[in-house]
Amino acid sequence: MRVTLLPACVLVLLVLDPGLTAPTLTPEEESARSLEPQSDLQLATNYLHQFYNLQTDPLGRMRRSGLSFASKVKDMQTFFGLNATGALDSDTLEVMRSPRCGVPDVEDYSHTQGTRWNKNVLTYSVGRYTRDLPRSAVDSLIQSAFNVWARASGLTFVRLRTNSADIMVEFATNAHGDFYPFDGPRGTLAHAFGPGLGAGGDTHFDDDERWTAGEKTGFNLFVVAAHEFGHALGLKHSRNPASVMYPTYKMSRPSNLLSREDVANINALYSPLRAGTNYILRNFPWLSRPLSSRLLQDRCAPDLTFDAVTTLGRATFFFRDRYLWIKHNEQSDIKEGPISNFMPKIKTSIDAAFWIPRRSAAYLIHESSFWTVKGSVIKGKARALSFFGFPAWVREVDAAVHVVKTGRTLFFMQNMYWSYNENRKVMDFGYPKYISEDFPGVNATINAAFSKENFIYFFVGQQVYKFDYSLKHVVGVETANSWLGC
Ligand code: ZN
Ligand code: CA
Ligand code: ZN
Repeated sequence: MRVTLLPACVLVLLVLDPGLTAPTLTPEEESARSLEPQSDLQLATNYLHQFYNLQTDPLGRMRRSGLSFASKVKDMQTFFGLNATGALDSDTLEVMRSPRCGVPDVEDYSHTQGTRWNKNVLTYSVGRYTRDLPRSAVDSLIQSAFNVWARASGLTFVRLRTNSADIMVEFATNAHGDFYPFDGPRGTLAHAFGPGLGAGGDTHFDDDERWTAGEKTGFNLFVVAAHEFGHALGLKHSRNPASVMYPTYKMSRPSNLLSREDVANINALYSPLRAGTNYILRNFPWLSRPLSSRLLQDRCAPDLTFDAVTTLGRATFFFRDRYLWIKHNEQSDIKEGPISNFMPKIKTSIDAAFWIPRRSAAYLIHESSFWTVKGSVIKGKARALSFFGFPAWVREVDAAVHVVKTGRTLFFMQNMYWSYNENRKVMDFGYPKYISEDFPGVNATINAAFSKENFIYFFVGQQVYKFDYSLKHVVGVETANSWLGC
């Protein structure tokens, strides 16, 4: 299942970015027994080697040049807010024995500062599960942990059922295909790689722990996952015990997982300003019109559906009644308001919309007519839908999407669809066909559709089906407004 991990990991570790944080392990000793000085020293040496970049000789022994060891102890003590004495006192050893994340607390590569994904929609997939919890419980705890970050940032996480997601989530024990074997019960609980290709973003949980959904026994999967996903998004450990990025395990109140610092850090990393010039404002000057806040709609309402969705330039437009949300592909903020605020000519709702990249043109359909939007301008008057060669009885469509690879625009109506050849400008022969024949798994009336890369996203009620156009099957399901960061 995870055959690609090892080569990807080797590639990443040796060639790419050493800042794909080097997670390691520390043996959590059977508490009291390790109080004798020699094993304390061994524990401390392992700990500092793994989390504070203490150099050891090839046999794994520390270079007992005193200074370096004591200064690493001080670093660690400073990190955890202990008295920075450099001596292994009981407070220090207690922290060293606490179950924790496997990612180091210090970075030995300064250039990794601010590693981030260059996109706002990230995919994830759960590969190997734990047997500690039912699969459905794991799925929902993982989803909740992603939602913690989605709510704070406007990042969107889309669950796939394939092995090619940005963030692969796995439960594993001991050696598991990367260079960071787990260590049995306690000690290291989990680790995650920072953003990047291959193993980048991948998140591993030590399956020798007892994972739970509760607070009393074992380790709470939601809390640990939220921490690890912070790393998968590019965040480092925090010294603030209130931060979810604090390195040792603590059972926090799940309703209040992120500190203000966490929210600020994730938004600093994925701030809209980082994406460069403000494409939308530059190209859609209507956006600068003031909005009446009374008109704002709740994009996170659980029953929200869309009438039409389309790419338009580097943004995605979501239409609902006479309202519009605009999400720039590389920015986390969402513009919204009545459609007429953005496109004064349009006083109606939009039933369907599609985008043809090579023409830089979007087509917005309302009942039996459509507008062409090019650059920032609606060109001319609305034209008749019959332009596309529909039979006379077709008076409206539910959804439309252009597939770049085939040069076809697909129009969906109830349980059937048409295929229009944009190159030859004719309707393809043999249509309409049944949607269920060619899009297995998409069995209800389609409200909206748009395509991105090799996928068509079908909005059906409150759900979105991610359909792989090459494989011809659904590879993921999400809620519709997860696209708006809910
Ligand atoms: Zn961590
Ligand atoms: Ca462990
Ligand atoms: Zn691992």
